[in-house]
Amino acid sequence: MKFSEMPYKRVDMDELTEKLSNLLKKMENAQSADAQYETYIEFRDIVLDSSTMASLSYARHTIDTRDEFYDKENDFYDEKMPLLQMLVLQYYKAFISTKFRPELEEKMGKLWFDNVELELKGFDERIIEQMQQANALGSEYKKLLTSAKIDFDGKVVNLSQLRAYQLSADRDIRKSAYEKRSEFFLQNADKLDEIFDKLVALRNEMALKLGYKDFVELGYIWMNRNSYTKEDVARFRAQVKKVVVPFTTKLHEQRRKNLGIDKLMYYDEDIFFAEGNPAPKGTPEEMFENGRKMYNELSSETAEFMDFMLKNELFDALAKEGKAGGGYCTVFPAYGAPFVFANFNGTSEDVDVLTHECGHALNSYLSKDLEIMEYRHSTMDVAEIHSMAMEFFTADWMQLFFHDKTKDYLYMHLAAALIFLPYGCMVDEFQHEVYANPGYTPAQRKELWLRLEKEYRPHLDYGDDEFLSQGGVWQRQSHIYERPFYYIDYCIAQVCALQYRIWMEEDRQAAWNSYLELSQKAGSKRLTELVKEAGLVSPFEDGCMQNVVDGSSEILNELNK
Ligand code: ZN
Repeated sequence: MKFSEMPYKRVDMDELTEKLSNLLKKMENAQSADAQYETYIEFRDIVLDSSTMASLSYARHTIDTRDEFYDKENDFYDEKMPLLQMLVLQYYKAFISTKFRPELEEKMGKLWFDNVELELKGFDERIIEQMQQANALGSEYKKLLTSAKIDFDGKVVNLSQLRAYQLSADRDIRKSAYEKRSEFFLQNADKLDEIFDKLVALRNEMALKLGYKDFVELGYIWMNRNSYTKEDVARFRAQVKKVVVPFTTKLHEQRRKNLGIDKLMYYDEDIFFAEGNPAPKGTPEEMFENGRKMYNELSSETAEFMDFMLKNELFDALAKEGKAGGGYCTVFPAYGAPFVFANFNGTSEDVDVLTHECGHALNSYLSKDLEIMEYRHSTMDVAEIHSMAMEFFTADWMQLFFHDKTKDYLYMHLAAALIFLPYGCMVDEFQHEVYANPGYTPAQRKELWLRLEKEYRPHLDYGDDEFLSQGGVWQRQSHIYERPFYYIDYCIAQVCALQYRIWMEEDRQAAWNSYLELSQKAGSKRLTELVKEAGLVSPFEDGCMQNVVDGSSEILNELNK
C-alpha cells in the first residue's frame, strides 16, 4: 500500500488497556505452552497495530510540522507511549513467570526471555517521574539548539545550515562559520551546563533507586547490552587508542598535504580536498533513478526491496518548508513497510540516504515476517552494521552519483569511517567517566574532555577559539544529552562494516551473502553470535583492530594514487 493511502486512526488507549488486561488473564489461565503462545501472537498483533499508528502519526508530523492535526496526534503519543510501555512490560513480566517457560524457551528461543528480563531490570514505576523529567530536559536541549539564529553570509541560518559553510572549500568562510558556531555555544554555555548537570543527577538517582552502583550499569541495560560488558568495551577503546589513533594521525597528515596547507586547524576538520569535498551530481529525481538502478544490479533481494520502496512512496527525502530536520528510518509493521525520511542538502550526505538509511530499511524489509516481533529489531550495534556495511557494498555504483570525483569520494568515505572511530570512542569514554563520577562540576567535565582529546585526536589545534579551548565541543553531540551510551554502537558496527569492505576485495559474493544472512537474522541472536556466524572477527578480540587498519590502509593507498 502507498504511504499516502495508509489509513490512520488514533490508538484508543482505554480500548487497548482493556484488550491487554483481558489478554493477560487469558494467558494466566492458559493450560498449555501452546495456548500461552497463542496469546503472545494476539498480543503481538495488538502491539504492532498500535505502533503502526504511532509511526504513521510521527512520519506525517515530521513531514509537515505545521499540520495541526498530526501535531496534536504527536503530543498524544508523547504522553501515552510510556503507558503503553508499562502495559507491555506487565504482560512480559507475567509471561516469563509461567510454569511453561522451559517449553516456551524451546519454541521462542532463550534469548527472548533473557532480553525481556534485561528490559524489566531497567524499568520500574518508581522512576517514571525521573524518566519524564529527563525527557523534558532532552527536549529543552533540542529546542535550545534548533532555536539558534545565526547571522551569516547576509542570511539568518540555523546550526545545520551553518554546517554547510563549515564544509566550504573556501578556508576563510569555514573559519568564520566555526567562529559563529563557537559564539552561539559560548552564549549558551551556562544553560547547556545546567541541563547536563541535571541529567547526570537524575540518571544517577534512577540508578541508585533501582539498586545499581551508578548509571553506567543502568545505561548498559537501557542499551540492551546482552553480550558484552563495560570491560570488553574498555578493551575495545584501548585497541582504538593503540592502533587506530596513530593511523588516523597519518590520515590527517595526508589531508593536510591534499589541502596544501602548512598546519591543519580546527576549521579544516572534515575537509579532504583543496577544491572541497566531492558532492553528488544530478537532481533528486535523477538520484533516485540511480538508486533504483544500483539496487537492481546489486542483488535480486535489493532489487525487489527498492521497487517496493519506490512503488509505495516510502521515501520522503526533499527538504521542504515546515519539514522537521535530520533523517531517520522507521517502519509501519502492519504493512511490512520501511520508511525513510531525509532532507537532501546537495552534499554527499544525500547519497548516505540511499546507502546508509537503505541498509536499515532493507533490514526491516527482510525481517518483517519473523514471527517473534522482538527479533525483528536488532540492538543498535547490529543495526548499524546493516547500514554502515551497505555504504561499502554500494561502492561500485558511486560513479552514478559522483562521476569524475568517484575515486575522491571513495577515499574520503573510507578515511572518514576510520577517523570516526577515535571520536566515537572518546564520546564513550567521556560518558563512562562522567557517570562513574556524578559529583564532577561542569568545569571538571570540560577538563576531562580536553584530556581525552589529547589521547584520541592529538592532531587537533584550536588556535585561540575560546569555546573549543575550554573543552565544550561535546555539548553539540545530542547523543550525550539524549541517548546515553549509544555512541559506542556506531564504533562497534563500523569495525564490522570495515571487515566487510576488506572482504569485498577478496571475495565480493561471499561477503555479500554473509551480509544478507546477517541482515535477515536481525535481532534473533546476540551481536557476538551474529558476528561469529557471519564469518567476521569479534570487534572485542585482540588483533581485530590491527587487521582492519592494515586492510583499509591498502585500499586507501590504491584510491589515493
Ligand atoms: Zn544508522
